[in-house]
Amino acid sequence: MKQLEALAREAQSFSQADAQGHAHPQSGGQPAMTEQPVRWMGKNAKPQADALTGDETEVARVMQICNACRYCEGFCAVFPAMTRRLEFGKADLNYLANLCHNCGACLHACQYAPPHEFAVNVPQAMAKVRMQTYTDYAWPAALGTLYKRNGLALSLATAGGLALFLVLAVLMAGGLFHEPMAGNFYAVFPHNTLALMFGVVFGFSMLALGVGVTRFWRNVSPGAASGAAVAEAAHDALRLRYLDGGHGKGCNNADDAFTLWRRRFHHFTFYGFMLCFAATCVATGYHYLLGQQAPYPFFSAPVLLGTAGGIGLLIGPAGLLWLNIKRHPQQGDAAQKPMDRGFILLLFLTSATGLALLAGRDGSAMALLLAIHLGVVMALFLTLPYGKFAHGIYRSAALLKWSIEKRQPNKLQLGSD
Ligand code: SF4
Ligand code: SF4
Repeated sequence: MKQLEALAREAQSFSQADAQGHAHPQSGGQPAMTEQPVRWMGKNAKPQADALTGDETEVARVMQICNACRYCEGFCAVFPAMTRRLEFGKADLNYLANLCHNCGACLHACQYAPPHEFAVNVPQAMAKVRMQTYTDYAWPAALGTLYKRNGLALSLATAGGLALFLVLAVLMAGGLFHEPMAGNFYAVFPHNTLALMFGVVFGFSMLALGVGVTRFWRNVSPGAASGAAVAEAAHDALRLRYLDGGHGKGCNNADDAFTLWRRRFHHFTFYGFMLCFAATCVATGYHYLLGQQAPYPFFSAPVLLGTAGGIGLLIGPAGLLWLNIKRHPQQGDAAQKPMDRGFILLLFLTSATGLALLAGRDGSAMALLLAIHLGVVMALFLTLPYGKFAHGIYRSAALLKWSIEKRQPNKLQLGSD
């Protein structure tokens, strides 16, 4: 205990020196380092020596305390990954921050959490660094910064602007209301126009995500991935393994009670999204491979997949928004809430407008419903690389790194592995 307190106080003195821009007590009089963006490291680059930001310094401080305590070692992958390190550089901190999924368990279990003088709050410290990684690795960087500052407003403005543009296009082409068209979307927007619009937006989104995750991976790359490591990481990501709190009872949300609802709503959201994506892929196959044109009957594969996905994508985001509103203020970063809610609302609106379109596809307002739905979907794809969805990608990459790393010998031999 005395050793831990001494360590904690030393870490505290380092972080205070950093925060105030003073020299470290043992740094030989060098001034504290200032914030710099993450550098994209090439294949042959030397180990990263970038200065830490204030938020990264805080994560390094709490990790040094946790490294001495280790009470939470079984909670998630963050703690065993931590025990493989004695020092925490920028790349390590970005990796650990994305390995954390903010379940809150280690805050409610911690004897050094506020109001204790050590003020250890791992989920909040990790959340702040995690949000910075979305901006640091984003491409183009300006869009990442814009989304970080105005996530909710930007999401709604993009969806509203694009929907309005398409509604005006429909209006100018002949009016918002029309004779029923039996669900023939291509009578409103020709197939090639839709394919071009969504091809460009989807291509941009995938390119931006690809550049971001490549930058993230190169900064934390642990070596080659074996088949077993890839399979384990995929299994953990798809099952949201660590959202069970490490003991199967779930995360903490509003207080120190465990709940599995966060995991369930994440599953509804993720698999709802994937079913909707599968519906689009199957419909594309029908069109190009089988020569069958939309609209498809209700009991066809694209409509059944889309309907099931749409219902999941209503339940999941609605539940996540409810949990987000009720969330304990110390568990996360309050500045991140607009970004989280912007993404959740866009997912919900994508599903709500899609199901409304399905219900009204035989009516006289189909063109209006179609224009609104397409605007929301385009806004969702345009903002995917800069917010919560990017976390899903970076987190999966962090899980893969952990699966690779844990198979390598631990030179420190201090942890339970
Ligand atoms: S969060 Fe608290 S209890 Fe858990 S390892 Fe860190 S210092 Fe120990
Ligand atoms: S908040 Fe949850 S996932 Fe994050 S470090 Fe703590 S126990 Fe692990």
